Amino acid sequence: MSLGVEVSVHGVMTLTMNFKPVNSIATPLRTALMQALLQATSDSSIKAVVLTGTDQIFSAGADLNEFSSGNAFDYPSFHNNVLPFIYAMRKPVVAALNGKAMGGGLELALWCHARVAVLNAQIGLPETTLGLIPGAGGTQLLPRALGLEQATSLILSGAIKPAADFQNTALIQKIAPETELLETAHTLALELSERAHDLPHLGHNQVSHENAEGFLQFARAQTRMRKDFSPGMLVAIDAIALTLSQSLTEGARHEFELFRPLVGSPEARAIRHLFFAERQASKVPGLHKNTEPRPVKRTAVIGAGYMGQGIAQCLVQAGFDVTLFDTNPEAAKNSIEKLKALPQLGNARLFVASSLSDLSSSDLIIEAAVENMEIKQAIFRELDSIVLPHAILATNTSTLDIDVLATVTQRPENVLGLHFFGPAPVMRLIEVVRGAKTADEVLLTGVNLAKILRKVPVITGVCPGFVANRIYTRLMEQALNLVSQGYAPHVIDSAVERWGWRMGPFRTMDLIGLDVLVKARLPDSKPTPGDTLLDRLVATGSLGQKAGLGWYAYTAKGTPCNTNPAITSWIPRPETHMSALQIAERCMIAMINEGARVLDEGIALRASDIDLCFVLGYGFSRLKGGIMFQASEMGLAHIQQKLMHAFQDTGDTSWIPSPLLVRQVASSGTFLDL
Ligand code: NAD
Repeated sequence: MSLGVEVSVHGVMTLTMNFKPVNSIATPLRTALMQALLQATSDSSIKAVVLTGTDQIFSAGADLNEFSSGNAFDYPSFHNNVLPFIYAMRKPVVAALNGKAMGGGLELALWCHARVAVLNAQIGLPETTLGLIPGAGGTQLLPRALGLEQATSLILSGAIKPAADFQNTALIQKIAPETELLETAHTLALELSERAHDLPHLGHNQVSHENAEGFLQFARAQTRMRKDFSPGMLVAIDAIALTLSQSLTEGARHEFELFRPLVGSPEARAIRHLFFAERQASKVPGLHKNTEPRPVKRTAVIGAGYMGQGIAQCLVQAGFDVTLFDTNPEAAKNSIEKLKALPQLGNARLFVASSLSDLSSSDLIIEAAVENMEIKQAIFRELDSIVLPHAILATNTSTLDIDVLATVTQRPENVLGLHFFGPAPVMRLIEVVRGAKTADEVLLTGVNLAKILRKVPVITGVCPGFVANRIYTRLMEQALNLVSQGYAPHVIDSAVERWGWRMGPFRTMDLIGLDVLVKARLPDSKPTPGDTLLDRLVATGSLGQKAGLGWYAYTAKGTPCNTNPAITSWIPRPETHMSALQIAERCMIAMINEGARVLDEGIALRASDIDLCFVLGYGFSRLKGGIMFQASEMGLAHIQQKLMHAFQDTGDTSWIPSPLLVRQVASSGTFLDL
């Protein structure tokens, strides 16, 4: 049942939205609302309506699935039927905000005649962060409630705020304790019912400002400079501007005309794709239905360096007991001191171990010692002899073969990779690496742990670099190829950044450290001309940002100012001219082709998982949806053609289109519908 309907003895009809999980404004809820509102109008014993939600959710807004399938605008339409009907009613409708009222949920409340809320009801219009605008009256009603400036700022930030922030504004008439919310709403509804011919409504308010045009111009200029700028934000300002000259009805109609085309815009589709990708990522296909994650309470981290300390912080902030071990006791002690100084420690307990035997009672151990197979194997061998039979042994290795590591234990089924990205407390991605013998329940425990840590698990198979680093290596290779052909690092970086990367490959290499990259090179890899350039830089002490000199020369504050002058003398003049678009496209198709191989080999389960790796692990723009989403935007046939040209130009077999790409082109499919 999507809507509970109850009529009190005083003639107040309470409509309780109960459409799991978040009262999204999907067709069943709209239909039930419309029917109930029609009944309220025609039944003379009903004087007023109170609209509320369940489980601390009023409504989280539109159903994104319906945007993708196209039935978001079916009858009864939110825009053309439900909302204008409330506006036209001669009986008051009071929204009782029992919790989250976001996007379309808040818009629904704004069309009501009054709003009461619990103190911590979360309210906001996040649509501009989804590549959209609040298109169900939000841009017309919020300025009428809060004034032009505050409403514009809320709409453009997409911020979600507690209702308490809007006490004594036209947005919220009354704040009430949870237990008195409905009673307060009923009383207000009955009071308003006495004024049937003079019902208050935000639609009656005028929006005025002493310099509206100047303010809106300023907002446009500020918006264009935002890092997360999306075209929808400027459209939102155009819609807000309508409030200065148009009635609510007229403005809402024009707002809808501005909103509708945005639903199919590349940015909005990209963000919807990522929204569903996140939901999908933690699903493990093929598990027996009785598979349960193992209980985890006591955790341990081995290695108190950059990653170990970050991982320990994630665990302790999620409430796990953590024991930290490092062969360097000072490192472990310093980390524990830093962790203890953190706020939000709660009841979690932190211990320093003086030897691995102190970890014997742990349920889950995450190893983050140095990247060296012998050292890691020695650790796993010793752990295997001391920890409890159910204990899970995880490694944070970036490059080493987990199956080889597992062979030193008697419990390869309890071994998996949990590949965090640095800085671990900030980055939301964890690659959960399934070894050849990893048990299903162990994998599920890893996936579950990521969720408990409020991160996004992406399941991967074993191969060098797993999903994210393996594919990203193709970008580095292309960047090095291009620089060795004479394209300057800043030319390549800015071309790639314009495609949606937060940081180009040369800036990234400088940040990681060029010596680290040289060390991480596979021993049997054939050196390319780009590798030779990298070696020359390292030989001259240009180790990247930490040395003040790498591909770039850095200021004392760490800002890159110029290309390292040595490079300019080492690289030839380019023989051909590639535009910025061609440079970026060459890098992208190399990665997409690798992404297709990763999918074909079953290393990644879904194209959308690959996209999450780049958006959450490498800062690829959410508005671009990830590299496999971009592949669909570019068209797989176009990519195949470009790959063939690159192969013909260079003779490099890595350009040969992956079999999966060829199959998808032949069947006119994309990677996303696999
Ligand atoms: P780090 O050098 O900052 O820390 C490594 C720590 O391990 C040091 O404190 C060292 O004393 C300790 N150590 C060495 N041998 C040990 C042993 N036998 N037992 C216990 N502790 C030992 O390195 P890091 O950057 O934190 O990387 C750790 C692991 O995480 C590596 O496997 C690395 O590949 C992986 N990783 C690193 C990153 C990154 O961005 N740095 C990202 C993902 C994964």
